[in-house]
Amino acid sequence: MKVLVINCGSSSLKYQLIDSETEQALAVGLCERIGIDGRLKHTPAGGEKVVLEDPLPNHEVAIQNVLAALTNPKYGVIKDLSEIGAVGHRVVHGGEKFTTSVIIDENVIKGIEECSDLAPLHNPANLIGINACRKLMPGVPEVAVFDTAFHQTMPKEAYLYGIPYEYYEKYKVRRYGFHGTSHSYVSKRAIDIAKLDPNNSKVIVCHLGNGASISAVKDGKSVDTSMGLTPLEGLIMGTRSGDIDPAIMEYIAGKEKLDIAGIMNVLNKKSGVFGMSGVSSDFRDLDAAATEGNELAKNAIDGFVYRVAKYVGAYAAAMNGVDAIAFTAGVGENDKKVRKAICEHFGFLGVKIDDEKNAIRGEEVIISTPDSKVKVMVIPTNEELAICRETVALCK
Ligand code: ADP
Repeated sequence: MKVLVINCGSSSLKYQLIDSETEQALAVGLCERIGIDGRLKHTPAGGEKVVLEDPLPNHEVAIQNVLAALTNPKYGVIKDLSEIGAVGHRVVHGGEKFTTSVIIDENVIKGIEECSDLAPLHNPANLIGINACRKLMPGVPEVAVFDTAFHQTMPKEAYLYGIPYEYYEKYKVRRYGFHGTSHSYVSKRAIDIAKLDPNNSKVIVCHLGNGASISAVKDGKSVDTSMGLTPLEGLIMGTRSGDIDPAIMEYIAGKEKLDIAGIMNVLNKKSGVFGMSGVSSDFRDLDAAATEGNELAKNAIDGFVYRVAKYVGAYAAAMNGVDAIAFTAGVGENDKKVRKAICEHFGFLGVKIDDEKNAIRGEEVIISTPDSKVKVMVIPTNEELAICRETVALCK
């Protein structure tokens, strides 16, 4: 079956058409600047990237243009839309309602709408993508794959905040966690690669991208993760602060004359390694600056590394041990210096890193030495393939 995987953001839309039998992407692409002007970048497998500058006033037009690109006689990869057997949508927030992926129907759409309160920037964009596909490809089954679903197995002790319980009862304020598709995919691969017993395994996944989160996966189930009600909690990220003393908000608001929206903007978009360094949110730029002696860039990298190491330590305690630690996403897959620096904190776990293995890029690799007590590995994440698999499993 050919599955169209769609990841709809507020002004962007990423897509892949995947052949579920070979698990190869037939085409990948990205619509940018939706609602502003519009650009569609489309790459057929084995072919040249095409950049189309047609206006994209809204997501429906964007999807229309994606479908046109996929069936284009020159750079398309299918003859007819009827070749698309199903559509898999990434949906950010499923609240407590969605603990697994589901086939989309009216009830599911209502459920996603009800969760929009919890992800006001993301769920409405996801719904626009879903509705546009329903209109343009009537009768083609659509599946919602939630970022939060994998973490719904967290126990109460991990998901309840230390605040009045009535906020959980009235408003569902609790920890949900995100990047679930990636944590699920990577933890399963880690269990396979480390040859662990799926029902007796303790894996820590470090998803370190621009957004970053860590999860503790015991016996294949998420038992804790670093993001919370929103993706702001946890690690120091590209531009997000991660954990801070909540009292900082009132203090800075007073000093800088900011309202709550202004403070949230600072914590989401101007903080993290970007805010700490004043250089960039990109670890390549930070490394270049730190190498040239920029103290603040060095502080940002060190702070990032230290926070990751602390969470891994916490999750080893949460699971009473750890068999495998897996690195994934942009930084986790590519930055050997950061990986090495993080692992230097794990001597107490008996971790030993093989520097040659740690230098390998772009493939699944065990980077710990054979005598390391914990297996450490790099596993490139593939959220689109994971969404494709979930979609096929439900549409069979
Ligand atoms: P997201 O999906 O959260 O936007 P990614 O997982 O694509 O993010 O990660 C993007 C980040 O990965 C970049 O901001 C950059 O910091 C980091 N990154 C990508 N390539 C490299 C590299 N070769 N070396 C170091 N860091 C890298």
